[in-house]
Amino acid sequence: MPLLARMLPSPLAIDVRRGAVASLGSVLADRRIATEGRIAVAVGPGQGAQIAADLDLPHCEIFRVDEGTVDAATELGKKLRSGAYEAVAGIGGGKTIDVTKFAATMAGIPMVAVATNLAHDGIASPVSSLEHEGGKPSIGVTMPIAVVIDLDYVRSAPSHLVRSGVGDVVSNISAIEDWELAGRVNGEPVDGMSVTFARVAAEAVLHRPDSVDSDAFLTVLAEGLVLSGMAMSVAGSSRPASGACHEVLHAVTQLYPGTSNHGELAGLGALYASFLRVRHLDWPEARMREIRDCLVRHELPVAPSDVGLDEEAFTRAVVRAPDTRPGRFTILEHLNLSEDEIGRSVKDYVEAVGR
Ligand SMILES: [Zn+2]
Repeated sequence: MPLLARMLPSPLAIDVRRGAVASLGSVLADRRIATEGRIAVAVGPGQGAQIAADLDLPHCEIFRVDEGTVDAATELGKKLRSGAYEAVAGIGGGKTIDVTKFAATMAGIPMVAVATNLAHDGIASPVSSLEHEGGKPSIGVTMPIAVVIDLDYVRSAPSHLVRSGVGDVVSNISAIEDWELAGRVNGEPVDGMSVTFARVAAEAVLHRPDSVDSDAFLTVLAEGLVLSGMAMSVAGSSRPASGACHEVLHAVTQLYPGTSNHGELAGLGALYASFLRVRHLDWPEARMREIRDCLVRHELPVAPSDVGLDEEAFTRAVVRAPDTRPGRFTILEHLNLSEDEIGRSVKDYVEAVGR
């Protein structure tokens, strides 16, 4: 009987705990990622100096990342290439990590993602989302070789940023529904292993009664975000973690720059998409309630007004949403509602989820 299996690329090390940054050097040495200590470290403008002081890496060279743009990432990539480093660690929030992933891929060296907040699922994914010529495309990059999440730093980040990761991971439930819909309607291949990672990540967070105040919750959230990254790596795209939820979020960001943040908008988009499923696809209403209750429990937005948008503004974003991701088939493309119908659905949605 043939024994067939596939190999999945994954980070060599996942380290989620308090004080993880301080022992970064030993993690890199133990895992043979960097045996000579020739490490470049990229830090964001916020906590950069503090983090650099905490590191047990006496000979590392520190680079500051000020912008989340392709230009900034290319600039860093050139410096990494000329410096003969064994590895680069990107320490900070999503922007710093995305810039470092891109630069490391360009320089052909391994990248270690050191996350200081849990705002989104890009920590362990093979995707960089960077600003370029007015847009923010998702660019394929190599998967981080190690993922380090320091709960001390996570705790010192503004709590709304930590909570917003809940919205991003829970939005997987909606993204998976969209993927399976595309499978049924268009015959798009659905990868069961990728779905397994993405769904388990979301379900692990969905029903927990505790909050970002507890280390146990933060650990599960961090691991959920890592698993979401694995799901994307297996799928070779953001499909398992990005459907109508993220189309709505990208449209909001394009139309109303500066509104809320990634994870909060992903959760809101997922809840609205779930409402459409209940109304048009006979999705169980109890399922939508579970998502709503989870978002409310973590003080995340559920209505457009929670992120400062009125119903008309949100309607415009939903109308625009499919254009943000051409080729991705979700409930929005499936229903193909007119602007009037979308306007009515948003009104009914607000009534249904209001608190
Ligand atoms: Zn996301």
